[in-house]
Amino acid sequence: MRLANIDGRSTMVTDLGLIDIEIASQGRFASSPTAIFSEIDALQDWFATAQPDLSEALDPESLLGSARLGAPVPEPEQIFSIGLNYRTHAEEMGLPIPTVPMVFTKFRSCLAGPYADLALPAETVDWEAELVVVIGQSGREIKPDNALKHVAGYCSAQDYSERVLQLAASPPQFSLGKSYEAFAPMGPWITTADEVPDPQKLSISCEVDGKRYQEASTADMVFSVAELIVTLSAVCELRAGDLIYTGSPAGVGQGQEPPVFLSPGSVVTTEISGLGRLRNHCVPARA
Ligand code: ZN
Repeated sequence: MRLANIDGRSTMVTDLGLIDIEIASQGRFASSPTAIFSEIDALQDWFATAQPDLSEALDPESLLGSARLGAPVPEPEQIFSIGLNYRTHAEEMGLPIPTVPMVFTKFRSCLAGPYADLALPAETVDWEAELVVVIGQSGREIKPDNALKHVAGYCSAQDYSERVLQLAASPPQFSLGKSYEAFAPMGPWITTADEVPDPQKLSISCEVDGKRYQEASTADMVFSVAELIVTLSAVCELRAGDLIYTGSPAGVGQGQEPPVFLSPGSVVTTEISGLGRLRNHCVPARA
């Protein structure tokens, strides 16, 4: 199942078109694209038996690039981001490979739809293609064997990063430099976990102006999705709709010789196999 935020409403994207979840379920499920993740099992049961009609017939390909698509989870309670979770990326940043997950946040106001324009606040904005995990079933002290049962779904995302501000404090505090407007585009929709048999077997890539800078497998994560859920839930209750940004592989701009950063006119394409593609146009800083 693919769950999108279309025109601000929770919407199922099928091969034949769209199903507005609140309308099709006659109010059984609310229209909130965030709240739906607290009822993901019930939603899937309902869909299997109700066989709802399309609310809009269209080719899902026609949604690609559409401004109708917002961030598929626009109001999560918590966003966890993991730094340096691929060995080769830690090496290119000149930082040690973590022995425990390095956790920061991207503040919620930086979430954006999959095709949002990126207004560049500085000349040192970098890209980071990432797999995002959406929590379904809430929980604390989640055990390893159970961890993936708490995942509602996955999507492609970007963890845009203003490198100077990211590293300005001592020791560095990543969160602010990664939270400018639209620094967390995600989507184009959430693919539910039942359609992602192994989150550690996905291809992830990022191209800037047609040049492929990042290409890796999520198999290369230092800490797997399941391990991250165990670590985070040992401290924080994970709640339905929470997001986990799972880190980026090698090939960011800072790691190039010499470093390459985004400039107005740049186009960034981010893709994870089976989950879909984001495309962001870079524009000048807002006046
Ligand atoms: Zn990142």
